[in-house]
Amino acid sequence: ATPTALMVGTGRGAQLGILIKGPEVLESTRRVDTVVLDKTGTVTTGRMSLQEVYVAEGTDEKQVLRLAGALEHASEHPVARAVAAGAEERAGALPEAESFENVPGRGVRGRVEGHEVAVGRLFEELPPELARAAREAENGGRTAVVVGWDGTARGVLAVADTIKETSAEAVRELRALGLAPVLLTGDNRTVARAVAEAVGIDEVIAEVLPEDKVDVVRRLQAEGRVVAMVGDGVNDAAALAVADLGLALGTGTDAAIEAGDLTLVRGDLRVAADAIRLSRRTLATIK
Ligand code: ADP
Ligand code: MG
Repeated sequence: ATPTALMVGTGRGAQLGILIKGPEVLESTRRVDTVVLDKTGTVTTGRMSLQEVYVAEGTDEKQVLRLAGALEHASEHPVARAVAAGAEERAGALPEAESFENVPGRGVRGRVEGHEVAVGRLFEELPPELARAAREAENGGRTAVVVGWDGTARGVLAVADTIKETSAEAVRELRALGLAPVLLTGDNRTVARAVAEAVGIDEVIAEVLPEDKVDVVRRLQAEGRVVAMVGDGVNDAAALAVADLGLALGTGTDAAIEAGDLTLVRGDLRVAADAIRLSRRTLATIK
């Protein structure tokens, strides 16, 4: 390989908004046939908002919001930020949580106003009215956040994310390059399907715990697939590192950026296609 052509490739990359760790990174893109896309913050903006509140009969809506908001206030998860902001807006100032525990990929738990509160995906069984509310939210592509305390589920909060305007076009471009897109998320299967359908992805791997994302990439590799992974979160870092090509969004966390081979500066997924196109072209010049 001629180093000059590779240097030209990295220079052009910078103009397109692609930061490349080292020229040798371009080599690994040649055989990539699968592109795994994280959902939240990658295909979607990750800027979420509280849309709807459902409560079980006899439950005070403000109490659901206050207890949920108080706990989520202590978490940095995009779902948590939406719940805390929405709760404060609808129910006023939030109480202080007396204890707080983060349950990765599931939610938060802790003590508020003398109750043992859980928020997220922490209840096995829901009463029929709440199960219906959760299903309704999920069918519309919104995340259902279950709120309960002292062992009983008492409310469902519907939290909406927004799909990036450029995501569907990016998926089309990736397909045109011969890559099979896969959507990967810790979120619910129904929500993931709704997002996948909106951007033109058929293959969905959902309800994956943060620490298991890396195993999904390894499994695809074991099937003989050469995998590019695109992600933004702390929970994507290990998968980005193991992938044949890791593309981190510049809008994402430092952990993801450090683990990736390439950084897409603007967080626009179409640039993932540009990156693969550029490196193939650069390599063609060399051969
Ligand atoms: P993703 O893979 O989409 O980035 P995560 O693995 O971080 O998502 O979380 C998976 C799911 O767990 C979320 O979609 C949400 O339903 C639930 N969850 C995680 N953290 C929280 C939280 N702080 N509050 C409520 N729900 C949460
Ligand atoms: Mg993410």
